[in-house]
Amino acid sequence: MAANQICKGCSADVWVTEAQIQKLLAGMEGKGFSFVGETVYQTRLAVCRKCPSLVYGTTCSYCGCLVEVSGKLAGKECPHPAGSKWEKAVQASATAKF
Ligand code: SF4
Repeated sequence: MAANQICKGCSADVWVTEAQIQKLLAGMEGKGFSFVGETVYQTRLAVCRKCPSLVYGTTCSYCGCLVEVSGKLAGKECPHPAGSKWEKAVQASATAKF
């Protein structure tokens, strides 16, 4: 494993596979979490994939969250200091449908 794949704070591998993310999501089902619908989830992920603050293809550099997990949670919001990028995109998406 290359040195740049290690978190400086905890020595864990910073690269998370799609299989690991899917396992995390599957493990959350039936545990009382409240999830957003698929349209909102995909809108949030599309925003993150274009965001310069996404690192390692999975992680928000502001909160350290795996966006495929945090984007699924109804109680989460994009932590960008200029305001939530998710909220703006979801509102624009909803407005475009009318
Ligand atoms: S949660 Fe917000 S700040 Fe973080 S990567 Fe996604 S769009 Fe960017």
